[in-house]
Amino acid sequence: MSDKGFLYTLSGRRPDSVGIAESSLDAIGAVPRPVVLGQDGVFRPYVISWNITKRCNLACSHCYIDAVRRKIGEGELSTEQCLRIADSIAEANPGCLVILTGGEPFMREDIFEVAARCASRGLFTVMGTNGVMLSPERVARARDAGVRGFGISLDSTAPGPHDEFRGVPGAWQRSIDGIAEIKRAGMDFLVQTSLMSFNFDRLEQVAEMVIDLGSPILNVYYLVCTGRGQGLSPLEPEEYEQSLHALVRLQEQFRGRLMINAKCAPHYKRIVHQNDPTSTFLKTYDGGCPAATHYARITPEGKLTPCPYMPTEAGDLTEAGFAEIWRDSAVLNEMRGHKLGGKCGNCEYTKVCGGCRARALALKGDYMDEDPWCGYEPKGTEVIELPQTEAYGKEQPTELSWTPEARARLERVPRFARGMVTRRVEAYCKARGIAVVTAELMQSLRDKVAAGTFTFLGKRPPPS
Ligand code: SF4
Ligand code: SF4
Repeated sequence: MSDKGFLYTLSGRRPDSVGIAESSLDAIGAVPRPVVLGQDGVFRPYVISWNITKRCNLACSHCYIDAVRRKIGEGELSTEQCLRIADSIAEANPGCLVILTGGEPFMREDIFEVAARCASRGLFTVMGTNGVMLSPERVARARDAGVRGFGISLDSTAPGPHDEFRGVPGAWQRSIDGIAEIKRAGMDFLVQTSLMSFNFDRLEQVAEMVIDLGSPILNVYYLVCTGRGQGLSPLEPEEYEQSLHALVRLQEQFRGRLMINAKCAPHYKRIVHQNDPTSTFLKTYDGGCPAATHYARITPEGKLTPCPYMPTEAGDLTEAGFAEIWRDSAVLNEMRGHKLGGKCGNCEYTKVCGGCRARALALKGDYMDEDPWCGYEPKGTEVIELPQTEAYGKEQPTELSWTPEARARLERVPRFARGMVTRRVEAYCKARGIAVVTAELMQSLRDKVAAGTFTFLGKRPPPS
């Protein structure tokens, strides 16, 4: 999964250059009210990954939707259907973060229209792209449509391995050129790397490259064996475990310079907890994987599934509204808190980690079964629960006085993180006797975050 990382990039480094949400809501007359999906403790969709096309300009070996180089997207949603779905997501949760991805999203000529509709409805809209098609014109059109930033795929520090993995010579350089265009336009981006045997022991070098490129975030994706990736040989369970330990070490090593996130590796939280039960990296959404609780995917045909690696359909968005499917789907409801099978069901980390449901489905045939890629042997001790005071998604009314500018700025934080940011900003002010939160104060905190001398995620001291 994607995507908490966008919070730091997009609300953090250059918030004013990308802010659009509240002005676009003004433009349509009123701030839409969310469909009430429940009070605290009930599941809300915070991040939606939208595979808006199967078409792609590359031929990546791991592609989970078997994207193809086609001019016409057979079976894909029409523009009108896309616009209706954007409205439907916004009715369920107007602050939702929507990742428009593919295939390659720029293969759809109406992508800017769809992005603009998402943004105009208050959705925090970003694009996941291989970066190859990022011309100055496309970047400008995306920015003008209200896109907040980009996730760019890069798998190696030199062209060879990346181009071979992505199936097209020259792809690496064109992605690097695309990043240059994003920077020229003053927009934000993060880098996403798929972890494979060829880059498994090169993560430190990849991290250095990402810093040089100017991204504050590196998202490391762990392959799930679906789509074209089914034929690949992913890391063995022991290597998988080792790589997650290495990632924890790298996070410390790069602290203050680069945020490194493990994606689609719920075991990561278990490993972090084993190392340090009070770690700030545990203060995210509940559980190890947000699929079905805070996250879902839309297929190019408009089906809602729990995540991009799971083809299991929760419902059809061309026939029913997003809120209705999200609330009533048997698949999503089964994944929400039901007891897991095998050792995941008997593990003390079942609530912290819970394993990858897509991996269970791909390798065991049942998404509720144990994750066969875990080398951990449960100890049979009490189930571990993390304190949720700082977790994503918890709403928090403001207690101090906020200037209108500061409040507008807070509104630009994706909804799932707004409560956490409110708590941390107010805690900072209260500790210093500051009675009024201003936009300038928020900016100074963001600068401190960028410099690694302050974190919204807790008590971490500044790096030495
Ligand atoms: S089920 Fe697995 S692949 Fe899907 S979002 Fe969760 S961890 Fe990622
Ligand atoms: S057994 Fe399951 S819940 Fe326990 S650590 Fe492994 S994947 Fe996570």
